[in-house]
Amino acid sequence: MTRELICIGCPMGCELTVEVENGKAVSVTGNTCGIGKKYAGTEVSAPTRMVTTTVMADNGKPVPVKTRTAVPKEKISDVVRAVKSTVIKLPVRIGDTAVENAADTGVDVIVTKNAG
Ligand code: SF4
Repeated sequence: MTRELICIGCPMGCELTVEVENGKAVSVTGNTCGIGKKYAGTEVSAPTRMVTTTVMADNGKPVPVKTRTAVPKEKISDVVRAVKSTVIKLPVRIGDTAVENAADTGVDVIVTKNAG
């Protein structure tokens, strides 16, 4: 099976052609660098994404957050739900943990802007 992907590793957006066998990438073309090859391999076997959203603070205002690392794509909704059901106590600083082990992914959600 062949899959066509756009690499999201940088703004160049290289168009990748991936030959897939048994759920794994056996060849990748169209990539300009190694990041594209790695992205293609992950995307066809176990796709992941960073999640960016906002969490409510105890002053009633939203604070921007993101996952510390990428999470499995099928867990994105669960991660967002976990964040949306959380209220954090101010003040917070960049890098503080807003939600620990979000949706049992093993990945924390961290604050990306100082607040409070
Ligand atoms: S393959 Fe490399 S150069 Fe092309 S979009 Fe991906 S990261 Fe950028």
